[in-house]
Amino acid sequence: MEADPSRTKRIIDQAEKWGAHNYHPLPIVLERGEGAWVWDTEGRKYLDCLCAYSAVNQGHRHPKIIQALKDQADRITLTSRAFQNDRMGPFLEKLCTISEMEMALPMNSGAEAVETALKAARKWGHQKKGVPENEGEVIVAAENFHGRTISIVSFSTETQYRDGFGPFTPGFRVIPFGDLEALRAAITPKTVAFLVEPIQGEAGIIIPPEGFLGDVVKLCRENRVVTIFDEIQSGLGRTGKRFAYEHDSRPGKSAKPDLLVLGKALSGGVYPVSAVVGSAEVLGVFRPGDHGSTYGGNPLGSAVAEAALGALIDERMVENSATQGERLARGLRKLTSPHIREIRIRGLWAGIEIRPESGPARPFCLKLLERGVAAKDTRTQVIRIAPALTVGDTEVDFLLEALGSVLT
Ligand SMILES: *Cc1c(COP(=O)(O)O)cnc(C)c1O
Repeated sequence: MEADPSRTKRIIDQAEKWGAHNYHPLPIVLERGEGAWVWDTEGRKYLDCLCAYSAVNQGHRHPKIIQALKDQADRITLTSRAFQNDRMGPFLEKLCTISEMEMALPMNSGAEAVETALKAARKWGHQKKGVPENEGEVIVAAENFHGRTISIVSFSTETQYRDGFGPFTPGFRVIPFGDLEALRAAITPKTVAFLVEPIQGEAGIIIPPEGFLGDVVKLCRENRVVTIFDEIQSGLGRTGKRFAYEHDSRPGKSAKPDLLVLGKALSGGVYPVSAVVGSAEVLGVFRPGDHGSTYGGNPLGSAVAEAALGALIDERMVENSATQGERLARGLRKLTSPHIREIRIRGLWAGIEIRPESGPARPFCLKLLERGVAAKDTRTQVIRIAPALTVGDTEVDFLLEALGSVLT
């Protein structure tokens, strides 16, 4: 496509005019993606360092995932759960095997999977723990991000996520992130679950104290509280392990939760697929009719997700995330910048926090665009860096050079 600035402007104006204004995107219009790279309507090429909030961990249009999509589109796409389909079983078996869990419940968006986990925990609390009906409590962490439904924003600590959307869903208690003693103090006989992100992504790649998640699992088990780890963004290789909680597992003290919530990269950015995977003790509370979704577990999404998991494991993307994450970390440590307050990194997931005196992170992201790096600020001060897990030395060095030139 010929570079045509007036076409780009028309597209942006059209989206502005006809779309509700619930996003403030950076001013590039993307029209093609391949692997770790994306192209805009002006023909410019960028290293994608957002990867759709880590939904595209496998890289854009991964050939095996696209092939699975095409093959399945020629067979059958949707049956609803009123009938069985031949693709859901293989997908769920693969998912449970990879996550070492007993059962899975497929949904579509991440927020739906979080809602599903909360419903499971509340029902388990009533039926198995004996918490009186309508009195179960769920503990969550401050600065959390779990999605945008009314129940989920009910326990958000971001003012804007809640502003004007009340009345809210009761039954949630907020504690500081990474604070085991606060969790201990918040647990009551009515507590059914603790919901937490192992690393807080939207909050700016906030990593809890070492061993925290292992301690959480132990404390919750002692108190019969269901642990729910939301790994929608941190899971599936982003941090250099399959799941971020594994960083906190120790011999004889696993940090594996009762329920793991997955989405985003579960389908490699090709089709919305999410799931709750976990123990039969908790997910087993659902009976036919209790909960559902028309598209959840559909054959097209199942085929795509099975291929996305296959690509991630077979092509050793998790290992590559650890290796290239090390290279990125070494390079970032060498940056001497007057603007950087702190760098937090796990695998190929980095948060570069800008000093308040240097202004917000967004202008730095705009300058990165000029250098061929597409990254998005989060929580005003943080540049989030999350390239595809397929990057090699060349891409990481390209990224480091761009960061160096913009930040020093
Ligand atoms: C993106 C995200 C969600 C919500 O997923 P959607 O598919 O946007 O509904 C929930 N939790 C975390 C940690 C996320 O990053």
